[in-house]
Amino acid sequence: MVVDASTGRRTFVSAAYDTKSPDYPRVARIAADGIHLMSTWLPGYPFPYPCITVFNGNDGMEYPMMVNDASVGDRDPTGLTVHEVAHTYFPFMMGINEQEYAWMDEGWANFFDGLLTDSLTGRPTGGGRGYSFAAGTDSDVPLMVRSSLLRGRAYGIASYSRPQNAYLTLLDLLGYETFHRCMVAYMDRWKGKHPIPYDFFNTWNDVSGQNLDWFWKPWFFEWGHPDLGIQSVARPEGGDRDVIAIEKKGHLPVPIHLEVTYDDGSTETIHFNASVWKSGETVSSIECQKGKTVKSVHLGDRNIPDTDRKNNTWNKA
Ligand SMILES: [Zn+2]
Repeated sequence: MVVDASTGRRTFVSAAYDTKSPDYPRVARIAADGIHLMSTWLPGYPFPYPCITVFNGNDGMEYPMMVNDASVGDRDPTGLTVHEVAHTYFPFMMGINEQEYAWMDEGWANFFDGLLTDSLTGRPTGGGRGYSFAAGTDSDVPLMVRSSLLRGRAYGIASYSRPQNAYLTLLDLLGYETFHRCMVAYMDRWKGKHPIPYDFFNTWNDVSGQNLDWFWKPWFFEWGHPDLGIQSVARPEGGDRDVIAIEKKGHLPVPIHLEVTYDDGSTETIHFNASVWKSGETVSSIECQKGKTVKSVHLGDRNIPDTDRKNNTWNKA
C-alpha cells in the first residue's frame, strides 16, 4: 500500500493465520485498505512504518509493526483489524503513557476504527459505541483521573467510549480541515516523544488558533453527561417563522443536529457544532424557514451521544 503519495513510500501489509479461521483471508486486504484511509484521511498522516503483520493469535492487541488478533469467526473482522492497526500512531509513533492516560491512545483507536469501519464496510457500524448508555453513571469518571486508578467498567468508559465521543465532537467542532491541521502538527511535534494531556490540549489550542478550554474542561476534567432536548417549537407573537428551542440538559457540550419536516412536506437538516454552548448558554433558539409551519422535529444523530432520547422528537398536535 502506498502510504505517502508525495514520495511513493509503501508499507508491506501481511496476515499470518490459521487457514481454519474463516475471517482471516480478508484481513490483510482490510488492514491495507484501513492503512490507506489512515494515511490519507484519519488521522491523515502517512503510516509511519515499512511493514505490519496481522497475526492470528488469541487476543485483540497492538504491538509495533504487529497485531495479535483472535479470529472473530463468521463476524466481520473490519473493526477489530482497523482498531489494532490504528494503534500504530498511538501509542507507538507517539509515545503515549497508556498506563496513566489510556484515552490518549485507546480513545483515538476507537475514534479511527469507528469512522474508518463505517467507510470500509459502507454500513454505519462504527458509531459512538454505547457511550449514551454509560454517560452520567457513576462509572463515567472525568478523563483526567489516571487510568491506573480505574478498574473494570470505569476504565473501559474512560479509555474508549467517552474519549471517542469527545474526539467526534471535536472533529465536528473544528471541521475536517482545521482538525487535520491540528492532528498533523500534534504528530509532527510529538512523534518519538511522550506527550501528556496538556501537550495535547496546548497543541490543539495553538494550531487551531482557538482557545478550546471551554471544550476540554467539561469533556476531560469534569463529571457530566450529554443530553439535549427539544424544549419547545413555537411561533413568537407577530413573527413570520417558527422557532425551535433546544435545551442543553446535560453538562457535556455536543452538536445540535435537527431533521425538520414542514407542513408542505418539505424537509430541512439543521446542524450547529458544539460551540453554540461555548459561553455557558443552556438554551439555543433556532429559527426555521420563513412562512413555513413545522410539522415535526427530530433531534440527534448516531454520532452524537445523548443519554435521554425521549425528548428528541416533537410532533405538531
Ligand atoms: Zn485498543
